[in-house]
Amino acid sequence: EQVNYIDFIHHVVDRFELNLKEEITIHRNLPDSNYYVWIDKDKVIQVLDNIISNAIKYSPEGGEILVEVVKRKHQLLTKITDQGVGIPEDNLEKIFNRFYRVDKARSRQLGGTGLGLAIAKELIEAHDGEVWADSEESKGTTITFRLPLMQEKRGHRS
Ligand code: ATP
Ligand code: MG
Repeated sequence: EQVNYIDFIHHVVDRFELNLKEEITIHRNLPDSNYYVWIDKDKVIQVLDNIISNAIKYSPEGGEILVEVVKRKHQLLTKITDQGVGIPEDNLEKIFNRFYRVDKARSRQLGGTGLGLAIAKELIEAHDGEVWADSEESKGTTITFRLPLMQEKRGHRS
């Protein structure tokens, strides 16, 4: 389905904010442009749910999260940055593996199965995209995924 991506991201973040129980602030840095992508909305919502939930789960109380969209050539990059515990460099690629969790003891307390990012990776790759992580321990983490931009808007905006 053809989707106005910035509108879509605003809706997803709005809904997150409404349900937020933690003392966390979500900031947005979103362009004021109509960028169209061809996506399965439910699946990309699932990806965002996973990544934003992680950002919240691995952040301290009072933490701030930034949701950004940047256009790069024929791609849209979506970046979710937190100020949480971070991920050690040698674990950065493994976090996308099924059932992989950094620091088992810590993660167990926080709950989860270690499937969230593995599913996110599968869903993004099914959209001809890619997802990766940048992180600095005890500073925070950025998860970025890219999705191909539609060349031309087709039909009408809904
Ligand atoms: P689930 O998502 O299945 O409930 P989970 O959150 O542990 O469980 P993933 O979302 O796949 O699993 O993440 C894998 C691991 O990567 C996590 O256990 C955590 O150690 C690490 N991780 C993911 N996101 C972050 C983040 N934003 N900050 C710090 N560590 C993270
Ligand atoms: Mg998770």
